[in-house]
Amino acid sequence: MVVKRPRIVIVGAGMAGLTAAHRLRTVAGDLIDLSVLEAGERLGGRILSSHFAGDRVEMGATWIHGIEGSPVHAIAAGIGALSADPLDPYERMDGFPNDPVTVAEGGGVVAPSVVDSVSLFYKNLMDSAREGKVPVTAENGSVGSFLRSGKGSLTADGSGDWTLDSVFAISENTERTYTSADDLDTLDLAAESEYKEFGGDQITIAKGYSRVIEHLAGVLPEGSIRFNAKVRDIEWCHVDVGEGPVRVHVDGGMEEEEVLVADHVIVTVSLGVLKAGLRKDADPGSVMRFTPGLPGFKREAIGRLGFGVVDKLFMEMDGGDGEEFPYLQLAFKPAEGHVGKIPRWMRRTASICPIYGGSRVLLAWLAGEAAAEMEELEDDDVISGVKATLEAFHVSGVGRILRVRRSQWRKNPLFLGSYSYVTVGSSGDDLDLMAEPLPRGKSSSALQLLFAGEATHRTHYSTTHGAYFSGIREANRLLQYYRFLW
Ligand SMILES: Cc1cc2nc3c(=O)[nH]c(=O)nc-3n(C[C@H](O)[C@H](O)[C@H](O)COP(=O)(O)OP(=O)(O)OC[C@H]3O[C@@H](n4cnc5c(N)ncnc54)[C@H](O)[C@@H]3O)c2cc1C
Repeated sequence: MVVKRPRIVIVGAGMAGLTAAHRLRTVAGDLIDLSVLEAGERLGGRILSSHFAGDRVEMGATWIHGIEGSPVHAIAAGIGALSADPLDPYERMDGFPNDPVTVAEGGGVVAPSVVDSVSLFYKNLMDSAREGKVPVTAENGSVGSFLRSGKGSLTADGSGDWTLDSVFAISENTERTYTSADDLDTLDLAAESEYKEFGGDQITIAKGYSRVIEHLAGVLPEGSIRFNAKVRDIEWCHVDVGEGPVRVHVDGGMEEEEVLVADHVIVTVSLGVLKAGLRKDADPGSVMRFTPGLPGFKREAIGRLGFGVVDKLFMEMDGGDGEEFPYLQLAFKPAEGHVGKIPRWMRRTASICPIYGGSRVLLAWLAGEAAAEMEELEDDDVISGVKATLEAFHVSGVGRILRVRRSQWRKNPLFLGSYSYVTVGSSGDDLDLMAEPLPRGKSSSALQLLFAGEATHRTHYSTTHGAYFSGIREANRLLQYYRFLW
């Protein structure tokens, strides 16, 4: 046994960090010295429940993706966060939206029979890939190339009907928001069959996703979570092991730096933050570094995996002529048929949908470059862009957009994007490498740096439950090391 009361520092108070902290605290109690360092001013990281125009909305994680076997669902149910308060209407309180109206650029509604058959065709293609029924070759190694070759049979009648392509593109645009890959040609096809989903309904959390986070943090003694504590450098492999092998340099905000000595550090920052720390041209004052630098295998995995941008754009409407806003899917025309002044950043938006039937708050999801571009605009420009889009689709009677609220995950230096994906050239092995503690091997100096976070889970990356599982995994690793668990 190395030390009596191990000092464990967790970097980041998102789902992974707080799950690890909760687990360590509930199993080992005061027998460990635990600190959580959070650079921001709040708990939750990419989980952020909020209110907009009288409705409860989620700026980040939104769905429990399948309730059967989901630990997030188990917690939310256990703390009563799933029971609705009738005075607090919430995003998707009526479940997953159904029955979209698919409108075409330039006006008109696409026949539901066409939409249904193209959507089913797309679903069957992706299901076959996800079930591992498609042999992956050099030609179809990406989801983009696989879909292109599959789509051939859909448009083989040579009718030249642009709606088939445009309706197919709605599913592709939805795929881009699910995966965060801006370009589906960069999304690895083989990895699709490794990704796991839970069964059962997909639901949102009536009292807000943040309730789960508050519950996890609730067991920690006062003062163990420190806000505005930005970790600048983690010095590991320190020779002076007697004092503790890791030193965490924390910027407390007032220009003074504090150094915490630790036996173990669990790093849970986003893949975007890890990537930024590897960039040679990065401003040393704004990134998190490791000294010595991370070993090659870790740097390469961080470099190869993808980390994309997905944003949510909420719009408050004035109600127009009182009609309920429909769930609109947008079938954009190919370049030669463009109508009106739809901005580029709107052109890959799959849908605009009220956040529940009858709500005056609409939501559009944006991914990739479009999301990054939208993040940089003023609110008025965002409103004009959506207005121009609705006009080009001849959508009328829905009223004016009064104001917008959007996420800006790309711009925020504490995240630098939304969630991770497996790129062509990467694989599930890289997610496993992300999870490997340092230094490698089983020496007495092992387990100085541990890694958790959604980007460290091979089969549930990109989700809150992936982050949760990773926090449990790293807490258990330490609990086993100190024989709190066998
Ligand atoms: C728009 C959007 C929609 C999503 N929708 C869903 C969904 O429907 N369902 C789902 O399951 N998942 C969804 N996700 C993904 C989910 O939110 C994440 O996978 C999960 O919350 C990640 O948790 P984490 O603990 O790994 O990382 P984070 O939440 O990023 O936590 C890391 C923490 O580290 C902090 N930090 C960063 N740098 C430093 C530093 N230098 N020093 C100290 N602290 C630092 C950050 O402030 C942050 O609090 C969505 C994400 C986004 C952005």
